[in-house]
Amino acid sequence: MAGGSPALPSKPCAHCGRPIVWRRKWERCWDEVRYCSDACRRARKSARHDSLERAILALIAERRPGASICPSEAARAVSPEAWRELMEPARQAARRLALAGEILITQGGRPVDPGTFKGPIRLRAAARRDEDRGVEDADVHGVFDDVVG
Ligand SMILES: [Zn+2]
Repeated sequence: MAGGSPALPSKPCAHCGRPIVWRRKWERCWDEVRYCSDACRRARKSARHDSLERAILALIAERRPGASICPSEAARAVSPEAWRELMEPARQAARRLALAGEILITQGGRPVDPGTFKGPIRLRAAARRDEDRGVEDADVHGVFDDVVG
């Protein structure tokens, strides 16, 4: 009891991005555990999920820097008719991309934990430190322009 039990290890599901918390049955194969459920293991093989990831990245790339998209836009891009069925898969694709560092999931303009958020989300390009790097990049380009011009 003293000090309580240490937190169990966890890692994100390779499909839905939600945390998988260590269980005793995985004692010998924890490193190989990639999915939180059989449903996620099966779903990962569907090409549609990769399409959603590509749609999210493409939509974000089209926006001006710092602008965000709604996951439903990616769902509509993949299937204009059946996009509602793709809402949860789109959110899962967003989790995967966020966990890979490709995008940020935000609520109210603030990044949230991709594994545990609840409620409506928006997606934007991963932070490239708009304040630091952005300004620095602009300065570099300015100098370069001066030299060339
Ligand atoms: Zn899962």
